[in-house]
Amino acid sequence: MKKGIHPKIYNNATVTCAGCNTTYTIPSTVENMQVEICANCHPFYTGEKRFVDTMGRVEKFMQRQKVAKKAKEEMDKKIAVKKQIEEKKKSAPKTLKEMMNAARSQLEK
Ligand SMILES: [Zn+2]
Repeated sequence: MKKGIHPKIYNNATVTCAGCNTTYTIPSTVENMQVEICANCHPFYTGEKRFVDTMGRVEKFMQRQKVAKKAKEEMDKKIAVKKQIEEKKKSAPKTLKEMMNAARSQLEK
């Protein structure tokens, strides 16, 4: 082994889980480590059904879903308004003759 290039090995390095506070002792080059999840509390090993959400991803997803729903509702409103305008245009007189006939029928009443 070449001298001075190998890291110090801690035979009793501790790994602490932030999720369940379990401490493991392992050989490592880092004396103390923090992990977010371990075999003691990960749903894969516990069989429990829950989301492992340390980065707030589920929350972000829910937020995006809300925004998308709002956007869709607004788009639906816009489409409804456009349809109403088109209906009005359809029922409006198209020629001068039609306009005159409509005016005459109103005068006769
Ligand atoms: Zn854990």
